[in-house]
Amino acid sequence: MRTQRQVVDYSLQKRAVLRELLAGRIGTYDVCDASPYLKNAARFHGEPTEHRCPICRSENLIHVHYIYGDELKQSAGQARSRVELPVLAMTLREFQVFVVEVCPGCDWNHLVEQFLLGRDGLAGGVEDGPEDATPARRREARR
Ligand SMILES: [Zn+2]
Repeated sequence: MRTQRQVVDYSLQKRAVLRELLAGRIGTYDVCDASPYLKNAARFHGEPTEHRCPICRSENLIHVHYIYGDELKQSAGQARSRVELPVLAMTLREFQVFVVEVCPGCDWNHLVEQFLLGRDGLAGGVEDGPEDATPARRREARR
């Protein structure tokens, strides 16, 4: 997405959680705790991925995009499907997107990344950086 900026990647935190789990310092009940709201959001607005769940390895992960920002008014905090985001990004000046991965099988969930979208990103200086996140993910998906 053209106006994507200030990307924060949470894959390190995710790996840390998985390490803790492998080491037995935390249990699956600590990390497989997706709320009914999150599971509904995944069902209705989720974006299927090619990635297997790191916990149960029987389902593919679903990405849910939550949007936050003053301009969103009563829509703030809602989940939106990925295709709706570029449209919103052209209508609003700035809003925050949080991407959460959810497993429909075992309820594993973790924050994947957060970033800003919106027209403010079109006013110069967007060229450097924001595109970095996507090629890496594609490479990973292809394996
Ligand atoms: Zn799972």
